[in-house]
This record gives sequence, C-alpha cells and structure tokens, in this order.
Amino acid sequence: MKNMILLVACAALLAASPASAHGPHEHGAARLNVTVESAVVSIDLESPLANALPFEHAPSTPEQIQAVQGMAATLHRAENIFIFPAAAQCRLKEVTLESEALPANLLAANAAQQPAKPAHQDHAAQQPPAEKPEHPDHDGHAAHTEHNDHAAGAEHADLDASFVFECANPKALTGMDVDLFSAWPALHELRVQLVSPTGQHAAELNHKAHSLTW
Ligand SMILES: [Zn+2]
Repeated sequence: MKNMILLVACAALLAASPASAHGPHEHGAARLNVTVESAVVSIDLESPLANALPFEHAPSTPEQIQAVQGMAATLHRAENIFIFPAAAQCRLKEVTLESEALPANLLAANAAQQPAKPAHQDHAAQQPPAEKPEHPDHDGHAAHTEHNDHAAGAEHADLDASFVFECANPKALTGMDVDLFSAWPALHELRVQLVSPTGQHAAELNHKAHSLTW
C-alpha cells in the first residue's frame, strides 16, 4: 500500500489560516508551501531550527558548526528530499537557506568543505560563563555585542529554506514524495499548502504519509 495522502481541496481552511508569513514556532512541526506552475516547482520550508539541529542559536563549538554544515549540505541536496516522478525529469535549480541565528557562510552550498572552525563566535566560545568581565568596557568587544543581542533575547530561531525545481516533462509532474522525515527525525508534522494546476490544497504529512499528489 502506497503512502498516499489524498489531497482535499480546502479553500475554507486556507482562508481561515492567518495571512502572516511566519507561523507559530512549534518544535516538531514545520510549514511547507509548494507552488507548481507548469514546469517549475517552488518550495518554501519554514521550520524551527530544533527540527534540524539540537540547538537554536549560533554555533560556538566545532561540533555545532559541523552540525550546521551537515544540515546545510543535506538541504543543498534537495533532490534527495523532494522526489518527483522520474518521468517528469525534474532538476534542482536553486536552494536558498536563511536563519536569523546562523551565519550565512555556514549555510552556503560548499560550507561543509570549509574547515570547521568558529568564525564570529570566538569570544563567546572561549569565554567561560563564570569569568564574565565585571567591567564590560574593559574587554573592548562592543562591536560583537550585536551577535549576542540576537541570541540573548530569542531562545528560539527558525530556518527558512527555498527550493526551485524545473521539470523537462511537466505532464508527468503529478506529485512528489517529501522525504524530510528521515533527514530530520525530530520533525513529526509538515503542514503543506499547495498551489497546483488543479487548485489549492492543504495537507499534513508525517513519517508514515509523506507523499503529495495533485
Ligand atoms: Zn524553538
């Protein structure tokens, strides 16, 4: 039995959901917006970082940096995550990864090939919490406090990822499998909004049912 989700056209549900681009931050859940327009499939994924990483702040240790690079590398190979019918001949054209908590260079396509050493976080990483300077003026790190401001106020952070696929044979483009659950074991529910040639659909995907058809 194939793990197929029957998509129900659900204009009422779509209309009821808030128009805000950023949904609530809920660990275990993420949002996926999929737009199918003839040969082009555009996918936007918005997820708490916690679904992909064991932390939601800028990495400060080599292990954390490697974890970010590993996450980025997985997403840059999105052809292994969003799987289209072979006959549709879809190719991944573009990947964009952003997070307010993560340095952009660690999210770049070739980030995993760079040495895993702390870049901007040297001060924070090497400074034991017990030895916080009593005289903040003394250490002269004023220029770096902007990094800490972001992390201090917000314990939570999201990842915004965009993907564009182009398909040589859009006639065969009738659905896709979303294999994000094996890459991100902490993810349990993917709330999908889909705009396709057959209309607008909403769906919820999970470990057991992760295929979309349209
Ligand atoms: Zn969080």
